[in-house]
Amino acid sequence: MAAAPEVVATAAEVRKRVGGARGAGKSIGLAPTMGAFHEGHLALIRRARAECGYVVVTIFVNPTPFPPGEDFERYPRDLEGDVEKAGQEGVDLIFAPPAGEVYPTGDCTFVEVTGPLVECLCGPHRPGHFRGVTTVCARLFNIAGADRAYFGEKDYQQLLVIEQMVRDLRLPLEIVPEPTVREQDGLAMSSRNRYLAPEEREAATVLYRALSEAGETVKSGERAPAALLAGVREAIEAEPLVRLQYVELRDAETLAGVRRVEGRSVLAVAAFVGKARLIDNVVLEPEA
Ligand code: AMP
Repeated sequence: MAAAPEVVATAAEVRKRVGGARGAGKSIGLAPTMGAFHEGHLALIRRARAECGYVVVTIFVNPTPFPPGEDFERYPRDLEGDVEKAGQEGVDLIFAPPAGEVYPTGDCTFVEVTGPLVECLCGPHRPGHFRGVTTVCARLFNIAGADRAYFGEKDYQQLLVIEQMVRDLRLPLEIVPEPTVREQDGLAMSSRNRYLAPEEREAATVLYRALSEAGETVKSGERAPAALLAGVREAIEAEPLVRLQYVELRDAETLAGVRRVEGRSVLAVAAFVGKARLIDNVVLEPEA
């Protein structure tokens, strides 16, 4: 079994360890997370382990992307379990800072991507969320000095927003996307699935089912967004334990609205199931 990773709480300790690894000629891989690891997180970590000489995982339930009234207080936390799982995957370093280490008192600097990428999907429903995500990621990238950072396609919009930030600020790292890891019945893995009662867990499978059916409809030649969106809406609204927040079809690179499904598009949903707000998406790639 691999040695337990070292767990540190300060930026200075991270810099020291990472500096040592870099001095030994290793490349640095980073997987930023909020912890409560599941197979989705472990997929990012395994990819980082395979591609980088030194792997840093951050575990930080960052208060700023949680708009008021969301689940910051009750978000699942399991540092001990996470350290054990990270050890089994050969992680070198866990950075689990207190909030004050990432947000020192009196800080006044934030990083915000503006424009179409944040004006659709989750953007209007979670005011300040992406500004919180980009601010914390910019700070974590700066602290860890990573060559590559790994993000899941499950949070598709987040991935595009981070890529935009990295391009715009000319940050010297590569963002590596990792496909969504699902349960056997298709439900996208999420720390928030822990909130689901058994009947809600069953009902939540409608999300991926509805998205997959839309994917099949595209394969059989449908190109009209309205028909696809109506199909998804109808399937989800037929499930009484699920309350749809949005379903949108957008260009997979720019998130601009699409009139016809011709290029790569992303079909994305957000829905409430009991206390959990769940998101999922599929990328549609119609044959030319
Ligand atoms: P979180 O701890 O939920 O903030 O997620 C940390 C990272 O893991 C993000 O890059 C997520 O996109 C990624 N992630 C979460 N769930 C999954 C999943 N089911 N499959 C792939 N990546 C995921």
